[in-house]
Amino acid sequence: MGNPEKPVGNALYAYITENIDRAIEEGWITAYYQPVARTITGEICGMEALARWVDPVYGLFAPNDFISVLEDAQLIHKLDCAIIQRICKDYSRSMREDDHTVTVSFNLSRLDFRLCDIHSFIEEEIKKNKVPRDALRVEITESMMENDDRMHDVIDRFWDRGFRVWMDDFGSGYSSLNVLKDYRFDTLKIDMVFLRNFNARSKEIIKSVVDMSKRIGVHTLAEGVETAEQFEFLRSIGCEKAQGYYIGKPMPYEEYREYLKNRGFSVEASDKRQYYHDIGRVNVLSATPFMSVPDNNTDTETHDGQIPIAFVEYAEGKLKYLFCNDSYKKTLAQLGVDSIEDVEREFEEGRTQLREKFLAMLLKAQSTDTVVGNDFMRGNKLCYAQVRTIAGYPGGNAFLCILQNLSDNSVYSKSSFLSGYLQSLCTIYEFILLLDLNTGYSRSLYHSAQTIKEYHRRPAVEELKDYAHDEIHPEDRERYLEFTNLDTIEERVAKSPTRHISAAFRTRVEDGKYVWCLYSFLFAGDKSERKLLSCFRKLSPEAIDRLQSEMSQ
Ligand code: C2E
Ligand code: MG
Ligand code: MG
Repeated sequence: MGNPEKPVGNALYAYITENIDRAIEEGWITAYYQPVARTITGEICGMEALARWVDPVYGLFAPNDFISVLEDAQLIHKLDCAIIQRICKDYSRSMREDDHTVTVSFNLSRLDFRLCDIHSFIEEEIKKNKVPRDALRVEITESMMENDDRMHDVIDRFWDRGFRVWMDDFGSGYSSLNVLKDYRFDTLKIDMVFLRNFNARSKEIIKSVVDMSKRIGVHTLAEGVETAEQFEFLRSIGCEKAQGYYIGKPMPYEEYREYLKNRGFSVEASDKRQYYHDIGRVNVLSATPFMSVPDNNTDTETHDGQIPIAFVEYAEGKLKYLFCNDSYKKTLAQLGVDSIEDVEREFEEGRTQLREKFLAMLLKAQSTDTVVGNDFMRGNKLCYAQVRTIAGYPGGNAFLCILQNLSDNSVYSKSSFLSGYLQSLCTIYEFILLLDLNTGYSRSLYHSAQTIKEYHRRPAVEELKDYAHDEIHPEDRERYLEFTNLDTIEERVAKSPTRHISAAFRTRVEDGKYVWCLYSFLFAGDKSERKLLSCFRKLSPEAIDRLQSEMSQ
């Protein structure tokens, strides 16, 4: 006939404190597990252990009923030790029964460090149950750090012993950023309050948190994910993991596997864990994503994901997209490719020139561990792809890939000129100039030292002449002046099937030597505006030969 009404207030306090030892002994204290999903794969990659008191008289008590009581009575360490014991037993059981075990995170209270030697306790339990230390994640809330100097030592000791420490409930307290600045965390769990009102503002905040975390080399997980829309958003901004009712509620160990099976979830293979972890370091919100590859890079710029970015995996002769942003999909569409599946299929079926070329880039990126770039012609469109290895596992590798459609200037719009199209060109070119044919003046917009210069005070014709004289190799000078001839340039660009013209000239570089460089002109916006972008970058001689032969095909 159901359970009697649960005690409240003082009666609850008395019941919990008087019965905690018994509850542990009798096994009323148990761990429920809540699954965590990897956003780019949708696979289950971890779970959080959450304490439950399954009372024979009153039924289920949730942490809200007993955590603060036990803290107040200085008994919380008893519960936390019981949970750690439970997790280790369950984990070793799952190792015996299953090939795929995922990491388990658990919660601690700040009092645990005063009331017992929690580090040693965990050490003993994992040894007893043969649990690898990489299987566990320690969750520490930001509020635990407030006014407590000892926490540095506490956190360092976990790291020294090989446990990764996560910051729980990020953003729920008053000093989140301070704590993040001062302590070492592997992952930041973004508090569920941010998803509760899921609107434009909260999305911007979550985006900035993810962007900031990647800049300082901290991984991200969002809590309280309840809808497909939230999940998709997190995936699109590069938040690596999601936890919440959308994936699953906390549940007893026995139910857990059944639940995953019934819902059709697959579980991440443990040998891919580090691989996806490495992929997760890449900041898809950055304007310079290649720079965010070797972990903690500082020099990135937020860019709302406008650069066409994808993560591709090349494994066992197959190409697979792990992630691509909207901008990348748009670029593919402009190149006449409907979907990423089409690219995957094309890669699998035909030995096209394009495929061979792209494959060669991947292999080169892999063997040299550098950014490898190449021009492609697709239909009458010229595009530029760049790839870099970001992670690997014994069966394959993952690459960060940027794809730019150089022939396109429809993405250019007056209002978003600097923030949008130009920024994406900046990842390719070393120098970009805006040439206004109405006035005859030019303005340099960008060079690779990342500064935007002032307006030029002299007409472009004079600038070009001086430039040819000072910077272009004498043998190429005449050709350069012909190429940049302002009287005919508008017509030549307009007539070009790729809507842009390019040519290579030997150009003087910093140390006084000449190197081959590619110069391109394309319309900035509608051609009636009579504004051209003039772009420039260094090229290898082979690249020039190839490009020229392709363009003449
Ligand atoms: P937490 O560590 O932030 O755990 C997440 C809480 O959010 C859990 O509540 C979980 O059930 C709930 N939750 C998860 N997904 C969703 C969702 O999509 N929507 C909503 N509305 N809620 C969701 P729970 O299990 O009641 O735990 C509450 C807190 O109690 C935990 O917050 C943690 O701080 C603490 N706690 C839980 N287990 C332990 C433990 O073993 N030791 C200690 N010291 N504290 C614990
Ligand atoms: Mg937690
Ligand atoms: Mg939390």
